[in-house]
Amino acid sequence: MKPLLPDGRRTLAVLGGGQLGRMFVHAAQALGFRAWVLEPEPASPAGNVAERQIEAAYDDAAALAEIAAGCVAATVEFENVPAPALQWLAARLRVAPAAAAVAICQDRVAEKSHFLEAGVACAPFASIESAAELEAASIDGLLPGILKTSRLGYDGKGQARVETRAELRAAWQALGGVPCVLEKRLALARELSVIVARGSDGGIVHLPVQQNLHRDGILAVTQVPAPGLDDRLAQQAAARAERMAASLDYVGVLCVEFFVLADGSLVANEMAPRPHNSGHYSLDACDVSQFELQVRALAGLPLVQPRLLCPAVMLNLLGDLWFSGPDAAPSTPDWAAVLALPGVHLHLYGKTEPRRGRKMGHLTLTGASAEQVRATALQVAQRLGLPAF
Ligand code: ATP
Ligand code: MG
Repeated sequence: MKPLLPDGRRTLAVLGGGQLGRMFVHAAQALGFRAWVLEPEPASPAGNVAERQIEAAYDDAAALAEIAAGCVAATVEFENVPAPALQWLAARLRVAPAAAAVAICQDRVAEKSHFLEAGVACAPFASIESAAELEAASIDGLLPGILKTSRLGYDGKGQARVETRAELRAAWQALGGVPCVLEKRLALARELSVIVARGSDGGIVHLPVQQNLHRDGILAVTQVPAPGLDDRLAQQAAARAERMAASLDYVGVLCVEFFVLADGSLVANEMAPRPHNSGHYSLDACDVSQFELQVRALAGLPLVQPRLLCPAVMLNLLGDLWFSGPDAAPSTPDWAAVLALPGVHLHLYGKTEPRRGRKMGHLTLTGASAEQVRATALQVAQRLGLPAF
């Protein structure tokens, strides 16, 4: 496929206006592209920095026609863009990732089936689509478990922990009786993720393996390199992520999340057909960021293996930080106190309304050694009132 060379006029479109779209726009513009954002919410984080935000639903026919007329390629910033919209666009301009790959990542059952087809182990699970299936499912090996809605879950939303069949019934009702998967709850030694980028020629590169810490189902901390991670395990995770991308004939950036169990075995959790929160450190700590990889893959520009320039820790900044107490009015955290420390990179997404659990920004800490970066990260956490890790 001929590369779309940036010439100051060519425009890339991103469907979705959140922070991932915003960082895609930054990367596209840095390379010399223009960027449009399709997003129904006015003044979105991505729309605010793009040449243009088209304020419409992701499947709005007129909006899609404008993109087809004004842009040379389109990508997504989140997996819940309707597949038909991507298909419609793909008939008219370059679209990556493809609608079919995005559709697989939208649905946990399809995703897990795909892991298994590609020979990638995942947590034992049962698909529960109806009350009858719930009663008939043989679930003894899956309890205690986690019930997850098959579609539209993120940041631990649409999930419930269940110990018994009675709790499973109640949880399924509480989740709206929608199609779900029941997953065995595994004892996690650690969580890893791997971000790969694959071009239309099948060439593939990956970021270093990240270690992730979640709090309440939301990513809180990413560390790179993963502290004390066995080389073999890191290579295995990278190889499996690349295998997933190849098996999907994927073009673009794909993140695969893994669990490491106590016995050192690796279990795939889920995939995201886009850059991922756990790869944000690459903006400051790698010579090519995940967003630049997304732009390059979309435009058919060369993909080169990213290099980690120094150890990094990423801390997510949730809206909770804006509230000092349950009834307090929101107030801006003391960023000056944080920026006074060495190697602090502050990224705020331009969201004006802080809410608990809402991703408002992140901080990347870089430095000469993993010990030093971790020490600074702990100081930052303390200054902001975040828990230690
Ligand atoms: P996101 O899209 O933000 O990554 P999500 O809502 O899709 O999150 P998952 O990745 O499925 O949710 O789960 C969130 C977290 O919950 C995991 O990172 C892990 O910490 C925990 N978790 C999920 N499934 C299991 C499991 N089967 N056993 C143990 N812990 C689990
Ligand atoms: Mg996840």
